[in-house]
Formats: sequence, structure tokens, C-alpha cells
Amino acid sequence: MYANRFSLGPVDLAFTDRYDGVSGAPFDSLNLALEGADDPDARAENLRIVLADFAPGAGLADLHQVHGSEVVLADPAGARPDCDAVVTDRADLVLMVRAADCVPVLLADPATGVVGAAHAGRKGLASGVVPAAVARMRELGARDITGWIGPHVCGACYEVPEGMRTEVSARVPEAAATSSWGTPSLDLGAGVQAQLTAAGVQVVDASRCTRESADLYSHRRDGARAGRQAGLVRIRSGVR
Ligand SMILES: [Zn+2]
Repeated sequence: MYANRFSLGPVDLAFTDRYDGVSGAPFDSLNLALEGADDPDARAENLRIVLADFAPGAGLADLHQVHGSEVVLADPAGARPDCDAVVTDRADLVLMVRAADCVPVLLADPATGVVGAAHAGRKGLASGVVPAAVARMRELGARDITGWIGPHVCGACYEVPEGMRTEVSARVPEAAATSSWGTPSLDLGAGVQAQLTAAGVQVVDASRCTRESADLYSHRRDGARAGRQAGLVRIRSGVR
């Protein structure tokens, strides 16, 4: 179920893998996608399975991701805003972002009890959704923030046209890379890491390459037959 799982003080964090769900092939089995050709009932059951294991009884602040740079304050009422980053200082509210090559980023300041989650693909990296989430957390009182970079397609695998590499690296130079077959590529994780470091965030690299890992979903590898994994974070109640 989990590619990685962490706790830091009252904060629980995890990145899921593709196992222990109910979806059939090719989405087998823990597909957490909001959309796509997989059975909606299976996707709903997968979400229930993950939430029941990760944070039994907690609420979910869900997003409908749009590759933007907007950050919202988590809404426990169940709305699903068009947005790629969410922050909260409420306990027992799970923040979740979905990805299948893009970078899921989890953020936490356990001392002040402020957490965040962001989804950064090529567009989100260039438009700064991750530093925007960090800034919103600081408005809520966060001071010493740690950021976990989850599974995503690596720079050796993420080939892009030369012009696209030029465009993104003009904003985030650290993202410029070369594929293992010698063509222009982007290292989204290196870009996010540079943005986090510049924002004063301590970085934990919890990444593996989605395209190269059979236990993870990869859109680059499987196209429309790829499901989605997730990054999850919540503050446990009663600990602070
Ligand atoms: Zn790779």
C-alpha cells in the first residue's frame, strides 16, 4: 500500500504504491485516480481502503488537480476545488495529492502543527506551486518546515522537446537535465528540491523513478492505462 511512510511528531505522512487495492488490470490495483477508464466503484473503494488504513475516522480535503499554482486552505466539508496545493492547521484532516510521474510534495512543521501537500508537474514547477504552498503555510504560523519529495519520473527518463527544457530551466535552472539516451529532459525532483531549499525548507528525498518502478504508476510508461498513486499527510489529534 505504501512506497514510504513517515511520522514526525504528531504528523503522519505517506506515499502510496499500486498494491493492496481492488482495481483490475491494467489499473491494478490501488488506483487513486479521480478520472480515467477504471471502474469508478473500484476507485472509490481504493480511496476508502487507503483512508481507513492511513487515518481511520479522519476527514479528507480533496483536490481536483489542474496543473496550476493556486493554494487553498483545506475544506473539511468535502468540496473538491480545482487546485494543486492545500494547507491546513486542523488535526485529523487528510490532505491528499495524486500523481503518476509528477512530483507529490508533502510539507510539515510539527512544532506549530501546520501541514501542506502539493502536486508539481512541469507546469507546477515552472509556476511555483510548491513555494506558494510553503508561503501559505508560513501565513498559518509555520516556521521550521520539512518537505518530503515523493515518487516521480526521474530526469534520466523524462524526455522533453528542447524548447520545453529551455522554457522551464529559464525559471528553474536546476531542472535542466539530459535523458539516459542523450536527449533534452527535465529533472522535476531537482527543480522542486531547489525551490524548497530556496524557501528555507529542509528536504527529505523519498523519491524513486515511477517509470522505472513496476510497483508505481507511470503515465510516461503506460499512458492512459496508468493509474495514480498519492501523497497523504495529516496531523494526529490529541498529540500536541
Ligand atoms: Zn527514471
